[in-house]
Amino acid sequence: MWAEKPQLVEPAILISLLLLVLAIALSFWFAARLMKPIRELMPTVDSEGHLEFRSTKVAVKTPEELKAVTIAIDQIAEKQRRDEAARRKLERVRSEFLANVSHELRTPIFAVQGFIETLLDGAVDDPAVNRDFLRRARGQAERLNNLLNDLIDISRIESGEMRMSFRMFDIHPFLRDFTNEMRPMALAKTMDLEFKSKVQPKDEVSVYADKERLKQVLINLVDNAIKYSESGSLIRIELLEGEPTTRELTVRVVDQGIGIAPEHLPRLFERFYRVDKGRARSSPGGTGLGLAIVKHITEAHHGTISVRSELGHGSTFQFTLRKEPF
Ligand code: ADP
Repeated sequence: MWAEKPQLVEPAILISLLLLVLAIALSFWFAARLMKPIRELMPTVDSEGHLEFRSTKVAVKTPEELKAVTIAIDQIAEKQRRDEAARRKLERVRSEFLANVSHELRTPIFAVQGFIETLLDGAVDDPAVNRDFLRRARGQAERLNNLLNDLIDISRIESGEMRMSFRMFDIHPFLRDFTNEMRPMALAKTMDLEFKSKVQPKDEVSVYADKERLKQVLINLVDNAIKYSESGSLIRIELLEGEPTTRELTVRVVDQGIGIAPEHLPRLFERFYRVDKGRARSSPGGTGLGLAIVKHITEAHHGTISVRSELGHGSTFQFTLRKEPF
């Protein structure tokens, strides 16, 4: 009987050993399964010292609790990627802007310097050119002043510093008065400016806007219409009902000028974008910022702006205004 005992002990030890190995293997497997996603979740620090979260694609196979954590971390990683892309874009835009500003400032400064130096070199005593050079220098100083004003405006709008003073007011007398104020500018170039309303009733049609800023938009558009039209042409400010489902009105500035080729239209409202660089720069006051400011102001009024144009046949700039507070 006693002789059979060792035969029973041996399989028991063997089974225990097997179970032990299995337990160790299982715990390794479980630990590895648990650690893999945790390791992948661990943020790293990149060469610039930024904490970087990686995407956790393995998360789907992990236990429920970890899945929730991985989803949260995925969201942080995604947000971090978006923030980083936005930061890089902002940096690029800022340095492009700075390069444009320096370039734009340099042109009139060099021109003024050139005129003064020529005058000092003797032209001041030449009655045939001295007044002309002084007039040109004054024109460039004016350009510089316009550029600085536009730059201040655009940076105040973009940084949110420009305070708008919205109120309800009657748009018809506003546009009529504006047209009368601007007509002499058109007449001086042997053009005409008129106002036409297609909105009923004519007696009281209110809009919600900032009068000063709205005037700035219209001055820019009418000024461009005059600048890019030939003498004898007519410029019209029109007021129309907006789309039927919206509580909006549409204002149009229509000219019969040189028009704009279709390839330029998508970029027209960008800062410093000019269609014909030589022509626009030589025209007094052109900064290439006017339409960018117009777009910003329209958007601050919760409106939209667009342009239709045909080369040689004129352009129509139109924007929307709200009939009630937003
Ligand atoms: P600028 O100060 O040079 O006029 P804007 O931003 O006001 O700058 O206009 C950008 C460009 O769009 C202008 O350089 C011009 O080429 C074109 N443009 C604007 N308005 C008109 C228009 N009514 N007719 C033809 N071209 C226009």
